Order: sequence, then C-alpha cells, then structure tokens
Amino acid sequence: MSRLHLDIRRWTLGIVALLACGLQQRPVQSVLAAQPEPPPPEATVYTVQPGDTLFGIAQQFGVSVDALAAANGLDDPGHINVGQRLIIPVPVESAEEVLVHAVEPGEALWSISLHYGLSPLELAAANHMLRSDTLFLGGTLNVPQHAGDHPPPCRLAHYTGDGETLASLALRYDTSPWSLAAANGICSPFLSRPGHAVWVPAETEVIDWPDPFAGFQIHPTPAVQGRTLSIGISLTLPVSLTGSFHGTPQTFFSTPGAARALTGIDALSETGIRTLVVTASLESGALARYVQRILVVPGEYSEEIVTISEDVAAALTPQVVQSEAESLDQLFLARTPSRLWQGRFVLPSPGDITSAFGTRRHYNLQTSSSYHTGTDLGVIIGTPVYAPADGVVVAAEPLTVRGNIIIIDHGWGVMSGFWHLSEILVEAGETVVRGQQVGSSGSTGQSTGPHLHWEMRVGGVPVDALQWVNEEFP
Ligand SMILES: [Zn+2]
Repeated sequence: MSRLHLDIRRWTLGIVALLACGLQQRPVQSVLAAQPEPPPPEATVYTVQPGDTLFGIAQQFGVSVDALAAANGLDDPGHINVGQRLIIPVPVESAEEVLVHAVEPGEALWSISLHYGLSPLELAAANHMLRSDTLFLGGTLNVPQHAGDHPPPCRLAHYTGDGETLASLALRYDTSPWSLAAANGICSPFLSRPGHAVWVPAETEVIDWPDPFAGFQIHPTPAVQGRTLSIGISLTLPVSLTGSFHGTPQTFFSTPGAARALTGIDALSETGIRTLVVTASLESGALARYVQRILVVPGEYSEEIVTISEDVAAALTPQVVQSEAESLDQLFLARTPSRLWQGRFVLPSPGDITSAFGTRRHYNLQTSSSYHTGTDLGVIIGTPVYAPADGVVVAAEPLTVRGNIIIIDHGWGVMSGFWHLSEILVEAGETVVRGQQVGSSGSTGQSTGPHLHWEMRVGGVPVDALQWVNEEFP
C-alpha cells in the first residue's frame, strides 16, 4: 500500500492516465524508464471502480478517510459513484510510524522512554496511560518514532540496598551521581530509597541484575486465571529465596543455578496487574530484592447448571462438605522439595471432557460463585485410571462427597486427585510412575453419574490439569 503510494508520488504523470483507466495495479516501470523523473506532485487522481469504498481507497493510498472526503468535498463519505474522479491528497509526511515495544523483566516507563529518546510523558501519552501507571510483563507499549536526539540507552543496573546512595552507585559504575539522577528522573542524587531500581547509562560498565539475581523467566505470559504460572529466577550463587505473588507466599525450589516456584492462579481471582516480590538472603546477612509486575488475564470459562436430587442435596450438609474439603486442603499444603515428575502429564483416562475445569457452576439454578475445580472425563464405570505423572500416593480412601479418592503428590506442591472411583489399586505412601493404573473410574460419593474427576492443585490452588498435558513444566 505505502509502496504503491510512493510509486504514484514519484511517477505521477505517467501513472495518472493508467489510474484513470482503472489499471493502477499494472507495473509501470517500462513506461517510466523512457521519461525523465517528474517533480513530486501535490495530489493525484483516482477513478472510483466497482466495489470501491472510500475507506478502501483511503487505505490503499495511505491517507485518512477524513482527508480524502475533505479533499473532494464529500458530505457523505458512504456515497461515492463508480467513475467518479477523486483527488488523493498527499498524506502528511510526518504521520508517525509506531514501533511496538514488548515489556521485559525489570523495565519501567522511565527506562523505556530513555531507551527510545522520549520523555516518559510522551511515552505515557502515546499509550493513553498515566506516568504513574505500572508496566507489566507480557504487555506492549507503542513507541512513537519521531527520531530526535536520542540520549544513550540505559540498562537496569542495580537495586539500591541499605545505606546505598546514587553517589555510592556512581562510584561503582564510574559515572557521576548527577548523571545517574538525571537518567532516573530523580531530582537530587541524594534522594534514592532502598529497593529503588536504578538505571545506568549503557556505555558505562554495568551489570544486568542485582546480585545474586541473574535472570528472570515466567511462563506463560500473561498469566491466566485458573492456570499454573511458573516463575524461574536465575542465580549467581545458591541462596535461599522467599517471595510472594499478590500477597500469597511462594515456595522456591532449587535447581542448578536457579530457583523455581510454581503458583496456581485462583480461577476466581481478580484479573489485572499483580506484584511478585522475591527476596534473597545473602551470606553477609544483607537482603536483595527483586520486584516484578505480572499481568493476570481472565480464563474465559463457561457456565453450567448442575442439578442435584433432593436426597443427595440432603446428604450434602455444610458440615460434611466443609470438613471433607478442609482435611483435603491440609494434604494439599505439602510442598515436597523434590520434583518427582518429568515432562508432560498424560490423560489419566481416555474419555471426552464432559465438564471443563473452571466452569462456573450454578447448583439447582441457585446463583453461586463456585466453579468446577477439576476436569471431568466421561468414562463408564470400571475404566482404568492411570497416574498422569510420577509421584507418591498421599491419599487412597473413601470419602462422603468425593467417594473413593486417590491423591498423588508429584513434588514441588503439584498434586493430582481422582474422585468418584469404583476401585482403588494403590495405598498411601506408594510410589507410582506415569501411566501406571492406580484405580478404576466410577460414580461413588455425591456424583451425578459415572465419570472421572481429575483435580490438580498447584500450591494448594485448583488449576486446569490440561495445561499440564499440553505444556511441560517447569
Ligand atoms: Zn468434576
């Protein structure tokens, strides 16, 4: 489109005749080669073809519909006639191209605006946001490309710790405290707070991450309601990490050179920007902190009405339901420090999904905020149930609401539960491997019919098990 437009502008005299015949797509190089290059035109003319709309024409020539309508005195842009000759105005050359910047860990509006040679206000305005708005991983920013005097790009260099000032950081990075203050939008080099991210001009000798942090990965981005979020922190030395995500404590498990936390995002949790805070305790006793904003988006779950017969409903007294749930919650609190699974999970049974995880449920037409905490597979009674991944059985027993259950601990706070079984073939404490039969499906407990309910919990929170079948964690 823009290419065509450029050609037209350069070669207007030769092309206008062709345009008028509706042959604007025909290559014109051979015609043009014989002629001297004409001066740039003020405007060109286009003859309306069958099927044309003003919008389509405007798009084709890279001009706005308004400009096109104004140039031709059109009162009703919806009404143009075949054969009508339209003046195509010269588009404004300064119309800005927009570059899209994907927000990376540790970035802030300040650093990104500095990187592109813009003021934070300009960048905020181009994205219809306030300067105080928070950026989030997985988000993008439109960067207007009015190339000006680009100051040197900046990189995240350091988080200030106790007793650290811009002056001491400047010494370390061989720069002046005033340049650091300017690069960070701080009016005085003596006004920095512990935990502040400080940006240092890139040409100075800088380190990328505050020791001992060496990198940060999350999967998926953005995070999704009702799904598992994997958080990886690369480390320069083995340290113990503590952290919280949106106020919920996270357990970090050690792997070579890194630490990893798996967090279940509650299916009913509010969406939006959440904060992850990770703290490393150094040998010296000092604490290093890493803060990251992460976007959580809706899981887009459907709704269903579940009808429960009167006698079943009578058996489901709040006390029975609650005490059973609470005893299971205790089991789900375990955070086995070793990772017992490898690779993707397999489906525990071959049935079709009859009720997906996260489906908002209305029991007997009552409005309620509950949701389906598992994945139901439609299988007849007696269908083998296989361990979806390696682990250790932590429960194998009959319950009132869930019927015969098996719970497998896969380590790192990841667990699978199977409800309503007709048969249990394992015992608590037993090690199982992926694909091993652990029981048979049924309809025991308060079940609406034969099916296998597969519940997965990560950090105690019910999550969509199918994510573990489709993706490999961590
Ligand atoms: Zn279910």
